[in-house]
Amino acid sequence: MKVRSDIAHLLHNGHSNTHIAQQLDIHRRHVAAARKALHIPNTGVGGRKPAASPEDMFWQRVTLAPDGHALWKGHRNSNGCPVFRYQKRAWSAYRIAFLIRHGRDPEGRVRAGCGRDECVAPDHVEDRRIRERVESIYDSIFGR
Ligand SMILES: [Zn+2]
Repeated sequence: MKVRSDIAHLLHNGHSNTHIAQQLDIHRRHVAAARKALHIPNTGVGGRKPAASPEDMFWQRVTLAPDGHALWKGHRNSNGCPVFRYQKRAWSAYRIAFLIRHGRDPEGRVRAGCGRDECVAPDHVEDRRIRERVESIYDSIFGR
């Protein structure tokens, strides 16, 4: 039996039949047949739960440090930017972290403002608008 590559990919990533069927808009029995053909056991209790949203997937790939930093344990692209794929789209972990904390899309580049390059803590990431505001506050204090 020939298995569609997108079904095979999601099966290998540990998703359930129901989740894959919903995501690809196909019937569950197609997924079940593909699972059988590829000899992949059913996801039961203890199987990896599929992420319900990009935010969910972000948290699954983060290790919270006791000092408040959040360390990225997921993939990084060739520029070193923490990224992940969700529903066939590439997402920047910085962007999602920013969205979680600020509820809006960032402007310009998002970076960790805490001095730890590998940190993606939503409380620590800053976009251009925030950096400029901080600079103008410093300017008004120190009269630069
Ligand atoms: Zn940090």
